[in-house]
Amino acid sequence: MKGEQQNREIVFAERPSGTPTLDTFSMRDIGMPQPQVGEVLLKSLYISVDPGMRGFMDKGKDDGAGIRFELDKPITSRSVAQVMESRNDDLPKGTIVHGRLAWQEYQTSKPDGLEQVDPSLAPIATSVSILGVTGLAAYFGMINIGQPQKGETVVISGAAGAVGSVAAQIAKMKGCHVVGIAGSQTKIAYLEQELGLDKGVNYKAAGDLEEAIRKACPNGVDVFFDNVGGELFDAVFANINWKARIVICGQIAGYNSPDPQQGPRPQQKLIKKSARMEGFLVFDHRDRFEAAKKQLAEWYNSGDLKYRENLVEGFEKLPTAFIGLFKGENIGKQMVKVADAQ
Ligand code: NAP
Repeated sequence: MKGEQQNREIVFAERPSGTPTLDTFSMRDIGMPQPQVGEVLLKSLYISVDPGMRGFMDKGKDDGAGIRFELDKPITSRSVAQVMESRNDDLPKGTIVHGRLAWQEYQTSKPDGLEQVDPSLAPIATSVSILGVTGLAAYFGMINIGQPQKGETVVISGAAGAVGSVAAQIAKMKGCHVVGIAGSQTKIAYLEQELGLDKGVNYKAAGDLEEAIRKACPNGVDVFFDNVGGELFDAVFANINWKARIVICGQIAGYNSPDPQQGPRPQQKLIKKSARMEGFLVFDHRDRFEAAKKQLAEWYNSGDLKYRENLVEGFEKLPTAFIGLFKGENIGKQMVKVADAQ
């Protein structure tokens, strides 16, 4: 039966200079792999596309996560898959797993790096989104580094995206005045009306962004959770308060830029404001993932944490879904559905 089934993969075809295009990727038919002793045959169900993957496409640049895509080899990202055939007693047929997998419809894998998904916790796709790196980055970045206190003002950039929308809601649950920055009126309506943020600022329509942030934050900015960087960072940074905490989660505005970006140097203001700026990688907090996932699942299941997926269907849509992240096409977590679980 397997021999009759179609299998496809998407490989890293061309190193992008600037923003990735469809030429960055190439899709091709491949054979159906056979699991060896100890391995499983996996069918991809949901595949996550993440802005951070852009860094894995650059040559020799240290991305901190140690991943580098190789030309003519499959792209990899966080995925949910189902065991279709098993030669490993720990992962019987039918088991749902998640892990960093190749962009292939079917692939074989050893159990290392695969985690079983508990479908009773939440829908299985959440294991690579709100209960995966997305939710965990928002959780540890906001709670451990931002440390928002009741009554403080918190600003989040990329607020209508996957990480930003979770980080913003956590700050709201902590009793803060929460301002989200995003790139369209539809996203601002989502932030204010659906997520209950106090104010949304459309950075593409604001004109003087520094002034727009000042108006939205009459008491100044105590916590800035930054997913974007660039000039948007500068505009919020100009408004920080004494003892502000600046959480550097992502810098998507610079991911496609070949040269390091330079803005106002922050050191003097950090001194004058006794402020703290701290970057982080979600995996720094690996030892506390389970407790955080439990909390995120509780918030999600109680409805306290709203979550939207920007789901597109079809394996072949992976490249456009990834490129769309840099055009602001997504509200919430960008995911590609490849197949239903059986
Ligand atoms: P996302 O926010 O769901 O998607 C990207 C969004 O970024 C787009 O929808 C777009 O929204 C905005 N954007 C794109 N280009 C921009 C630009 N030039 N200027 C301003 N905004 C731009 O992605 P995500 O998965 O949640 O990731 C958010 C950030 O967190 C990324 O920078 C990612 O690398 C980072 N991250 C860090 C960690 C960590 O461990 N530190 C873990 C996960 C993710 P608009 O319409 O608003 O422009």
